[in-house]
Amino acid sequence: MSRRQFVGLGLRMRTDARSARQQAQAMSLLHEDAYIDGRWFSGAERFEVLDPATGEAVAAVARCTADDTRRAVAAAERALPAWSTLPARERAAALHRLVEAMAANEDELARLLTREQGKPLAEARGELRYGASFLTFFAEEARRLYGETIPSPRAGSRLLVLRQPIGVGAAITPWNFPSAMIARKLGAALAVGCTLVVKPAEATPLSALALADLAEQAGIPAGVFNVVTGDADDAPTIGRVLCEDPRVRALSFTGSTEVGKLLLRQCAATVKRVSLELGGNAPFLVFDDADVEAAVEGCMTAKFRNAGQTCVAANRILVQRGVYEAFVEQLGARIAALRVGPGFDEGVAIGPLIDEAALLKVEEHVADARARGATVRVGGRRHALGRTFFEPTLLEGVSPEMRMTREETFGPVAGVMPFETEAEALRMANDSRAGLAAYFYARDVGRVWRVSEGLEYGMVGVNTGLVSTAEAPFGGVKESGLGREGSHHGVEEWTELKYVCLGM
Ligand code: ADP
Repeated sequence: MSRRQFVGLGLRMRTDARSARQQAQAMSLLHEDAYIDGRWFSGAERFEVLDPATGEAVAAVARCTADDTRRAVAAAERALPAWSTLPARERAAALHRLVEAMAANEDELARLLTREQGKPLAEARGELRYGASFLTFFAEEARRLYGETIPSPRAGSRLLVLRQPIGVGAAITPWNFPSAMIARKLGAALAVGCTLVVKPAEATPLSALALADLAEQAGIPAGVFNVVTGDADDAPTIGRVLCEDPRVRALSFTGSTEVGKLLLRQCAATVKRVSLELGGNAPFLVFDDADVEAAVEGCMTAKFRNAGQTCVAANRILVQRGVYEAFVEQLGARIAALRVGPGFDEGVAIGPLIDEAALLKVEEHVADARARGATVRVGGRRHALGRTFFEPTLLEGVSPEMRMTREETFGPVAGVMPFETEAEALRMANDSRAGLAAYFYARDVGRVWRVSEGLEYGMVGVNTGLVSTAEAPFGGVKESGLGREGSHHGVEEWTELKYVCLGM
């Protein structure tokens, strides 16, 4: 039976005594080679991908060099003329086929995602559907990539605006949503006629490679979607080529603010279009007039999804005095009830953190907060499962100078601060160089308007803890980034406007 026939069977992994790597190998969408110009490329060296729950190696993936990256760029450039001139309907059809292939293989993709990233299986499925929704949205959007005509000031001319694909694109993606962060960029780029070279995070290359396999099955031509893999040492080398090669016209990055700034500098030499989705430090405000139960529910979603490892995670929870006790009481009860364990276990809400360094950072944030006067209401320590598992935690008495307030904790730790007035809440919420997502709960309609307008953030959730959807523009202000992904605005990152002045 060919590998391709296997794919349709959606083989499940068995949890028996076999090694993690052997188990992973039994998955037909498991690839350890990079994918360049429609071919699997083994590279001269390999790096290990670890299961964050156990620390066991699950795969040994190709390390790509600068030359390999340039080959991928060359392939993307060769594929560009045919892909960009294909009728939009046909590009859209290919993206729709990719969505169908993802749905048909959801079991296996979800298992692969949980294996390399750690999140609970149900969340892995959610991520796959979320990612696929961008492919569908942009497949539909491809057919509506309208230009303009402009009334001319002169009788003898006509003014037109064409929207054209920017050219070869590059994407560098993080480990917290290994599939969706690629799908989000891939959908927009391919729909408008760009070709793409993706460098996935070293911790989670497997979901990216599985997508490449499915893209090939969906009939996306060689060179249109390339996946260049490498470990942490290779990232700067691969990244430099993607930023500095003049054939690459746009770079879309999701990751840390520090790396985003570096990439922005590197892209200056070739004046690339740069889209950055960087760190957040989301405030979550609960006002006296809020529905406290709903606010607790929203806070659980905004804080604990993916064990707190999202860039839109609520990082500073500010609660007005009148509802403070009730909110903390209810939040504490919900946090204490969260089940921690490997993502494959039934009923688990909090999986492992991505690696031990992530856990150390969370421990440091908690220790720093306690040393500065915060008190632990729930959790507060490494979980009995050890290594990468941390207890879901609630801290009270958190204050603005603490590390957990200044930086993203990226873990299952909620810290609560009280406030007195709306003006004080807004001041505290905006006291950050980040500006990605913010949330607040209130019912007074005047306050809802004032606070929505006053928050210096790219996205605001009012009476909800979940804002992301393919139909809306995702992105930040201040140091959280440049550009938007999703919605009809999302095509702007991958297109150029061309003004045509037609003399008659
Ligand atoms: P995180 O702290 O969440 O791991 P990073 O910004 O380090 O975020 O990683 C996001 C992505 O950026 C990953 O794919 C990683 O390999 C890549 N990356 C890290 N350093 C560099 C670099 N110097 N140049 C290009 N890419 C990089």
